Amino acid sequence: MAVPQRRISKTRKRMRRTHFKLSVEGLVTCPNCGEMIKAHHVCPKCGYYAGKAQYLDGKLVKEEKKAAPAKKSSKAKKATKEEAK
Ligand SMILES: [Zn+2]
Repeated sequence: MAVPQRRISKTRKRMRRTHFKLSVEGLVTCPNCGEMIKAHHVCPKCGYYAGKAQYLDGKLVKEEKKAAPAKKSSKAKKATKEEAK
């Protein structure tokens, strides 16, 4: 039977075992508040789902779009190109 030629030192054993660790599956950080939450679930702390809509009284309330400039549609882009020419 094959036998180890040398005993594994404490350090080598411990270095090998640094990779033996438990991992928690299915938890993600809430994009709104940063809390660890179950994936694909409404955040129990802030009530947001996927950082987009807030869950209030059994209804999903989508946030109003911010005043940031909206993306131009393809028609608008064509119009601006034609104006440039
Ligand atoms: Zn949250």
